[in-house]
Amino acid sequence: MTPKPVGPIPADYAGQAALTLGGQGVAALAEAGTPVYLYDGAAIAARVARLRAALPAQVGVHYAIKANPFAPLLAAIAPLVDGLDVASAGELDKAMVHKPASAISFAGPGKRDFELEAAIRAGATINLESEGEAARALAIGAGLGVAPRLAVRVNPDFELRGSGMKMGGRASPFGVDAARVPALVRRLIAEGADWRGFHIFAGSQSLDTDAVIETQAATVALAARLAEEAGAVPPLVNLGGGFGIPYFPGDRPLEVEAVGAALGEVLGQVSGVDFAVELGRWLVGEAGVYVTRIVDRKVSQGEIFLVVDGGLNHHLAATGNFGTVVRRNYPVALAERIGAAPEETVTIVGPLCTPLDRLADRVALPRAEVGDLVAIFASGAYGPSASPAAFLGHVPVREVLVPAPNA
Ligand SMILES: *Cc1c(COP(=O)(O)O)cnc(C)c1O
Repeated sequence: MTPKPVGPIPADYAGQAALTLGGQGVAALAEAGTPVYLYDGAAIAARVARLRAALPAQVGVHYAIKANPFAPLLAAIAPLVDGLDVASAGELDKAMVHKPASAISFAGPGKRDFELEAAIRAGATINLESEGEAARALAIGAGLGVAPRLAVRVNPDFELRGSGMKMGGRASPFGVDAARVPALVRRLIAEGADWRGFHIFAGSQSLDTDAVIETQAATVALAARLAEEAGAVPPLVNLGGGFGIPYFPGDRPLEVEAVGAALGEVLGQVSGVDFAVELGRWLVGEAGVYVTRIVDRKVSQGEIFLVVDGGLNHHLAATGNFGTVVRRNYPVALAERIGAAPEETVTIVGPLCTPLDRLADRVALPRAEVGDLVAIFASGAYGPSASPAAFLGHVPVREVLVPAPNA
């Protein structure tokens, strides 16, 4: 049977014989129990440093915590970034453990009054998604006697090409249509709000370097146009993110150095305004590995199935059920024989009673036995918090942040 390809194993691990994070071997890391998500603190720090080196100095780095809200990971990344972006009152509470409210922004449609109030009391910036939300935030601020920190999320009139999730250029639950933004900004200022600027998010998971460059230039131009029409200088322009990571066969990494250089040219002509990018998966995605143990090895109609102790309940995305149209294989390997020659074609399934629970479909691996560890790479973002843990009632997944060796 011809095997199907798998996604590229991140460079940090591709050359290893047995998976090692922060100087610790996978066997030891998995000993306290599988399934387990391992997050590589050193790899995350290196990622932030690489991004900072690539970006112009006036562009801050924000972490969108919905990508991975695991508390030890947040504690590790928060000091390395300039801001945290949250999308609920629950995330706001988590973020405030690690950053002052002035470094936190709160986006997302359908913010309830209690969420607006929590953000305003704390002094976090609310990225307004509509005029209705603006009116509620202003009223809550007036009731509390404080000037709320309000930015306007813009639904841009363009979208990020080659983006997995499109968030612009069309009718959208996110943000205020660009044409109506200047009037809203004028109203916020007139009513005494502390206007914080614009939030413009045009898409997600793009690996197309030219498309990201083009979108950022268009975003800067749009912000300048809206500011001029509003007659006010935005303190901060949050350029959104959209930086993707390779998950699937043939995926090539985004060239962030080229993105940063191009942004530097665009911003060369701008002064007096701060900028930021907000990234989730690009910062943490490749630094996480989901490790499961083989519980059963069986053959059905000539096909080999390796049944492992976790699946869709912990890692919906790897099974192809979170925002993908066609199911393709994530990067996968036997955790203690990463580069070893393949000997057989197997399908790896989780323990759930549903045919959707398929972690790897007909992949070529060395011969694996019950008890061996399977590693699914590129798993540091949209893992446990984006998976239906309660479905079928299996034990919760463990998560471990592996610190850098000298940390
Ligand atoms: C989800 C989200 C992000 C993070 O997206 P990634 O693809 O993980 O980088 C950033 N900003 C906003 C507004 C989001 O909703």
